[in-house]
Amino acid sequence: MKILVQKFGGTSVSTHERRKMVIKKIKTALSEGFNPVVVVSAMGRKGEPYATDTLLSLIDTMFKDNNKQASDLLMSCGETLSTVILCNELYKDNLEAVPLTGGQAGIITDDNYNNASVLNVETENLISILKEGKIPVVAGFQGQNEKGFITTLGRGGSDVTAALLGVALNAEEVQIYTDVDGIMTADPRLVSEASLIKEISYNEVFQFADQGAKVIHPRAVEIAMKGNIPLVIKNTMSNCDGTLINSSGDLDTNSIITGITHMSNRVQVKVNYEQNKNNENYNLLLDVLAENMISIDLINVFPKENIFTIDEKDLAKFDSIMTNIGLTYSCIKNCSKIAIIGSRIRGVPGVMAKVLKALIRENIEVLQTADSHTTIWCLVEEKHTNRAINALHKEFKLG
Ligand code: ADP
Ligand code: MG
Repeated sequence: MKILVQKFGGTSVSTHERRKMVIKKIKTALSEGFNPVVVVSAMGRKGEPYATDTLLSLIDTMFKDNNKQASDLLMSCGETLSTVILCNELYKDNLEAVPLTGGQAGIITDDNYNNASVLNVETENLISILKEGKIPVVAGFQGQNEKGFITTLGRGGSDVTAALLGVALNAEEVQIYTDVDGIMTADPRLVSEASLIKEISYNEVFQFADQGAKVIHPRAVEIAMKGNIPLVIKNTMSNCDGTLINSSGDLDTNSIITGITHMSNRVQVKVNYEQNKNNENYNLLLDVLAENMISIDLINVFPKENIFTIDEKDLAKFDSIMTNIGLTYSCIKNCSKIAIIGSRIRGVPGVMAKVLKALIRENIEVLQTADSHTTIWCLVEEKHTNRAINALHKEFKLG
């Protein structure tokens, strides 16, 4: 059996017209001799009736935070609806399809509601449906724990479902269908000149995804990489070849930089030694934050000051920890962490200089920088994000 996993995102399944295009992609797979296994997201985006965020808005935040099992049950409904609706449309097209929840498709997770980890994928149901010549249509983003309760895999989790099934079924390929032509040198919503990346390595795309490019979930990339299953990002609405992600990718390009992405809602924190010098907790701060599960990044430790960033959603908790341990700090809210990614940055002199030059020319103040062998990060005020990304995109001639 030549299995192909085809995952369709929220916009791809949002309307009858778009679902017609989805069916076209499934038919193409069939005509090429594949056995498709389809994974679907909830229909539409925030504000639309069956989107995950809309479902979540039906319950109170307090209830949601204290009843994660209930909120998982609610959130999982969006994908479950999509499976039946798509099966109905396949049926009208004389294609026999079987809708399945994540649990029915064999996705077994731990009990960590809202962000469950997958323990096992039991493929018996999927294999028997495929053997009957039918198309399994699986609800993405959800699994089931050993007690039989529905769990969810974290936002963007339908990509994870697709990659997991691809590996478990030893698929020829996992296709992620979305509303853009593939992975671009920058988010096309921000940079109109962004160009398509035809081939890229798992490693580089992981950096992209992990640093905020929403187009694919980083866990999905990791899972496909471990299982050595090619991932292809494609547009449901076009016939473009998309982006192929595999282990060879991106070796024969001349450009040092592959692309640019960003993460918003960062807060830059400064903790000054002079202001806290009589407090023994000053040297323990990073430990205390780790114990409290506050993740920090862009960490610069200087003799007289520690500087780092946290996510805006952790600020209230961070503030109460600082009060408890008696440390004072200052912060800049509404920052954006821009990541300039390229696996060939290593050892090439002058890349950081070029980055700074492009931003200074635009009068954008750089609040902090950091670099690794594949990425350069710049922290800027959120209001400059768009201009900064466009300036860098131009500077590195990525268009
Ligand atoms: P889906 O619902 O299909 O999963 P997502 O919204 O999760 O779609 O991901 C697709 C979106 O990712 C695109 O509409 C695009 O705005 C955004 N995006 C961010 N960075 C990139 C990038 N580098 N290349 C392509 N798309 C990107
Ligand atoms: Mg997505």
